[in-house]
Amino acid sequence: MRTVYADNAGTTRLSETALNAMLPYLRDKFGNPSSVYSFGREAKKAVEESREKIAAALDALPSEIYFTGSGTEADNWAIRGAFSKNAGKVRHVITTAIEHHAVLNTAAALEKNSGAEVTFLPVNKFGQVDLQEFERAVKKDTILVSIMTANNEIGTILPIEDLCAAAHARGVLFHTDAVQAVGHIPVSVKKTGVDMLSLSAHKFCGPKGVGVLYIKRGAGIPAFLTGGGQERTRRSGTENVAGIVGAAAALEESARNMNANIAAVTAMRDRLISGLLKIPYSFLTGDPVNRLPGTASFIFECVEGESMILGLDREGIAASSGSACSSGSLDPSHVLLAIGLSHEAAHGSVRLTVNENNSEEDVDYILEKMPPVIEKLRAMSPLWEEKIK
Ligand SMILES: *Cc1c(COP(=O)(O)O)cnc(C)c1O
Repeated sequence: MRTVYADNAGTTRLSETALNAMLPYLRDKFGNPSSVYSFGREAKKAVEESREKIAAALDALPSEIYFTGSGTEADNWAIRGAFSKNAGKVRHVITTAIEHHAVLNTAAALEKNSGAEVTFLPVNKFGQVDLQEFERAVKKDTILVSIMTANNEIGTILPIEDLCAAAHARGVLFHTDAVQAVGHIPVSVKKTGVDMLSLSAHKFCGPKGVGVLYIKRGAGIPAFLTGGGQERTRRSGTENVAGIVGAAAALEESARNMNANIAAVTAMRDRLISGLLKIPYSFLTGDPVNRLPGTASFIFECVEGESMILGLDREGIAASSGSACSSGSLDPSHVLLAIGLSHEAAHGSVRLTVNENNSEEDVDYILEKMPPVIEKLRAMSPLWEEKIK
């Protein structure tokens, strides 16, 4: 049976380039970057060259790049770091209702346990924040704004440059979770002016377990992990050398192929969207214009998203409903509720995310197999019977 992997917002296949770059560091070049003899120096050099590549891809300085163990860790560091930096003050944080759980639950934990005050900004039906509403939310006690560059469930791209400028006009630090954006659309910290940015290698064909937090020079964010003093004393722990090398190789490759990838991936996404919207009682979620090249996200009324994922799996298609993190729970996605969908509608969500490893044949296969899966599920649904009566 043909298999089609269409859950690239969940994770991606490791690129061949990244794998080959990593292999020597998993075999012979196993030194600890902190050791002074040649094995160590070789590993240290690999980490520093990777830092330079990642900095170049983001328009940052190498000294502003900090390796972490995941995108989640980078988000935690940004938020908890800004919070610790302002110890002893009233601390107000602004974020949005559609952030990844790595941001949302971190802000919520600080609110619950550490006395932070958090504003979760609402979004419109496309997942966009209202700039005026955002400006009104900023208070004299606001210490941090954290708004994602692009949403992982509905693909909406947010205007980070404008939001960051508005925060800076009020002297507030700005963090963006750019995990879904980096490697897929141009991201420049110079252009947007953000103070902190999170990324994760496994979302752009790098290895799992490698994240980066960009911290602008002078932002004053304290160390996150204390210990042996790695990452210029800000994030201790022996470096994941092979992972870091793989992350840099994957990002360099994505940057090199970005224009071609965007063109090919957008074409596949648009064919998925126009093909699947022919199914009755279906609609697109997220911003129809400002959206990630690879994200096709839908609601199919009177279908249970989880059943659809299993039905698609039986045809060899890997897709997602809501976010991967919340599958297994019956709560509908917080993102879909935030864009104004009812619980009932939100349950019918399906997200197909394609990247440069997909082909037009994959799209053909999905367009062939998906409508009958939906038809079959609807035929068994009492809600559907009501609807078409
Ligand atoms: C995947 C993802 C994360 C978490 O990154 P991990 O490296 O998997 O911890 C954070 N934010 C967004 C938007 C994501 O898509």
